[in-house]
Amino acid sequence: MERLLKYGQCADKLKHVSEVKNGLACNCICANCKHPLVAKNNPTNKKVAHFAHHSGKECEGAIETTLHLLAKSILQKTKRLTLPDYHFDYDHTNDKSIFKKSRELVFEDIILEKQVDVAGEKLIPDAIGVIHGKQIFIEFANTHFVDHDKKQKIKTLGVACVEIDLRDQVLDESLLTSFLNSNTPSKYWLINPRLDKEYLEHKRKLSEQKKLKAQQKAIEDEKKRKEDIAKFNRYKNDKSVKLLLLRNGEITNCPKKKVALSQLTTSHYYRHPVLKIIIDGEFWNGEIYGYMPNGKWIFVRQEKVIVFPPDNKCENLSEQEIKANKLLFAGLQKLKSTLDNPTFGDCGNCKFSVDYFTVDEKSYEVCKHQND
Ligand SMILES: [Zn+2]
Repeated sequence: MERLLKYGQCADKLKHVSEVKNGLACNCICANCKHPLVAKNNPTNKKVAHFAHHSGKECEGAIETTLHLLAKSILQKTKRLTLPDYHFDYDHTNDKSIFKKSRELVFEDIILEKQVDVAGEKLIPDAIGVIHGKQIFIEFANTHFVDHDKKQKIKTLGVACVEIDLRDQVLDESLLTSFLNSNTPSKYWLINPRLDKEYLEHKRKLSEQKKLKAQQKAIEDEKKRKEDIAKFNRYKNDKSVKLLLLRNGEITNCPKKKVALSQLTTSHYYRHPVLKIIIDGEFWNGEIYGYMPNGKWIFVRQEKVIVFPPDNKCENLSEQEIKANKLLFAGLQKLKSTLDNPTFGDCGNCKFSVDYFTVDEKSYEVCKHQND
């Protein structure tokens, strides 16, 4: 805060130091201690023009009190005030609790320091703004903030009250005017019964809508459930289609895959017992584990099947066994390239897929592929 006193009080009005005569002839007193001021506004002065106490004594609070008065006089003169955002939780640092955005208001009237009676006790707001016959209390704070008692009294009256924190402001009319007409965290609602009510009503409506939506969803879900059961029963008895069960989101018994595998039954790979059971439909994850010289293996039916033994055990193998291992390895690679076809089980993009539904948490694809 600028520490120079730039305003003195003259007949209950604030006067800027540039508007008055030099020295004691300024005829001003301190707004705080009411003692005479001298204007130090001689154009030849090196220091910026300001007021000093004639007594030469320090006056603590002179600037704060003057700032308070200046803010009130600006408000009375302009009747303009940008009201703060309304936060339903009254936490003006919480961006998520804004229910009504700030807005600029031009009051019909501004009444300063008017005594208001509350149940036999008196209350004097800094300013009362009047608009459409309604009142808003306006409190300016730099040393004294509205305390709990005062807040309770205002609550009893059911009047909205905004507090304006002047601690970061300086004694400058134009800066203070634009501060009053901007949305800043230094202004906040202490109480706003009308918006409190509006917010509660808004919340009530929201929860009602939510309840209604949940009810509608339950009805729709039940309808869908019945339809899906009907579908299941219909497709189950329909010989022209097959129901394919999804496991972990995947179709394991895709008929196109079956056809591709069945074509391998005429190849020489089908003579190898392990390749035969995979071609016949046993699940193999397509992985060949291990590296030479430590051997290679796969898992089928959750059992480890050696493809190549470690190099140091190869000496014991017969020529026939070596041939069988090579056939197994080549067959697995053939199977892998056959099974890698991305269209297998991709029902969403498959012309044979005719429907999809879920019954008892099991999902089914309806497939019209006929080559079985
Ligand atoms: Zn003083």
